[in-house]
Amino acid sequence: MLQLSLFDPNPTPTRPVTQGSADVIYADASAILARPTGRLADLDFVINPYQGCTFACTYCYAAFFVAEEEQRERWGQWVRVKTNAIAKLRNSRHDLRGRTVLMSSATDPYQPIEAKLELTRSLLPILADRGAHLAVLSRSPLVTRDIDLFKSFDHINITISITTDDDAIRRRFEPQCASIDRRFEALQELAEAGLRTRINVAPLLPLRDTAGFAERILDSGVSRVHINTFHESSGPFASGTRPPALKIARELGWTESRRDRVQEELRNHLNRGGRRLAAA
Ligand code: SF4
Repeated sequence: MLQLSLFDPNPTPTRPVTQGSADVIYADASAILARPTGRLADLDFVINPYQGCTFACTYCYAAFFVAEEEQRERWGQWVRVKTNAIAKLRNSRHDLRGRTVLMSSATDPYQPIEAKLELTRSLLPILADRGAHLAVLSRSPLVTRDIDLFKSFDHINITISITTDDDAIRRRFEPQCASIDRRFEALQELAEAGLRTRINVAPLLPLRDTAGFAERILDSGVSRVHINTFHESSGPFASGTRPPALKIARELGWTESRRDRVQEELRNHLNRGGRRLAAA
């Protein structure tokens, strides 16, 4: 059931103000459809229903886009809900027919608060009615909840980020995220529903068995794999890997040369036999 009532002009007292130990903040946004830039420039629009993300990944580059220093420092301990997102999207005059909308680039649209608020879910029928093509990017198995709505899009791909094959490593870098098994299970459920899926290995974390990880990815039926490694930031507002992740990487000996070598090995395993699953 859509939770539209949570976002009507007269806020109800049912809005949660915490998510675990994180603060939930409610605020209007100036816009909901943004034009992507940089690496995402080939997409037409991006929607971030939330600002901030309680998955709190240690490496998250999105923290660099937050203006307030305190909130950058407290990344993962707060999430801002864009209360007018539905109205903004409904009232948008952009022609979305045949345009690719990414959800999302600087937050996870299926982070834990979404299970209660269903804000992302509420935006999907509007996008489908407007003829948009949808690209979903998430680390969360909660995406499978919306399979019914995903099926109403003519063009859709769903990317799930899986950064390692080792849950001990995963817990060090992204302790609030779902296990590796649950993410592969979600991919399988999406594929069984006839939806096109992809895997984002970004950032690539240490692997226990590179060939075995590649095999598991190949078996998951995804149509494409994107691999990326850490980017060390060059300034306070540059997007890059956050210091907590770089510290863990140093402790694990996850050096630039090791990252490059494993990335190359993984890509070769994925592309063997002439397949071009992992683009350069
Ligand atoms: S899930 Fe994505 S947006 Fe959320 S903290 Fe992790 S990397 Fe950042």
